[in-house]
Amino acid sequence: MEKRVARSKQLHKCEIGRCLIIDPRTGNLRCKRRAPFQISNDDYINEDGEWGLKRSYKFMNGFVRPITVNVRCNNDGKLLTNGNETRNVSFYISKYQLKVQGRNFNTSAVFAKTLAYHRDHSDYVETLQERQRLFLFRVCHAMNREQELAAPMVMSYLMGWGDMYRSHHYIPIYWTSFVGRLLEAFPSLKRYVILFVRRVFANIY
Ligand SMILES: [Zn+2]
Repeated sequence: MEKRVARSKQLHKCEIGRCLIIDPRTGNLRCKRRAPFQISNDDYINEDGEWGLKRSYKFMNGFVRPITVNVRCNNDGKLLTNGNETRNVSFYISKYQLKVQGRNFNTSAVFAKTLAYHRDHSDYVETLQERQRLFLFRVCHAMNREQELAAPMVMSYLMGWGDMYRSHHYIPIYWTSFVGRLLEAFPSLKRYVILFVRRVFANIY
């Protein structure tokens, strides 16, 4: 199990568009995860706090054995030997868990900004009703303007594929035709259906 998970999840494969970037100094392609990694016959740590895992293959990412075996997913362990690293990793984890705020994530602030702007710039709009109507209109525009869309989403819209991918083609099945087929196959169910329909109508009327 450990070998199978490690082989499929922990092996680093350099690919353009994933980890290979152009090094601005040399102009050559370079892996931003710094693969191939350093080979070591043993786990090690020196006085400066520099440490490393045993690694006999230079594209293997380090992993924590119990996590690999029990959770069966990719993982990355870090040995914290000093305050600086502990602080950095704490910030990294917190940021990752809490989801860093993007430009338009704070929707209410975008709305408030839009409202404030129009309060200052459109006193020609008299009635309250008109203000409310335009407010909704402007809020929509503000959201459209500030929204970030993922590239696949944009492509999907441009191609007219709608806003989701589906593995199957679905058609509506109407309840009455379904019941019709059911009764055709099992006529003995008829009285239950009549009871059911009566009950439903009793609830409606
Ligand atoms: Zn790489």
